Amino acid sequence: MTHFAVIENAWLEPPQQLPEAVYNCELCAEAVCAGDPYIELDGLIICADCLDGLTARELAVEVLNNKIITAG
Ligand SMILES: [Zn+2]
Repeated sequence: MTHFAVIENAWLEPPQQLPEAVYNCELCAEAVCAGDPYIELDGLIICADCLDGLTARELAVEVLNNKIITAG
């Protein structure tokens, strides 16, 4: 493709509408955009991808700030 054709095609394309970030995930800093699923835990916004990757232990200790207690 010639340089002119590249410019012409770019000019003819409609402007790309980037989804607007509503929040940013507290764990991975990825944008949570309108329509994206997320969860708010104790005031922290967490995207669905991070939530799926968290173990129950990580969720309790790192997100909810609970402590692991030794019995006895
Ligand atoms: Zn995330």
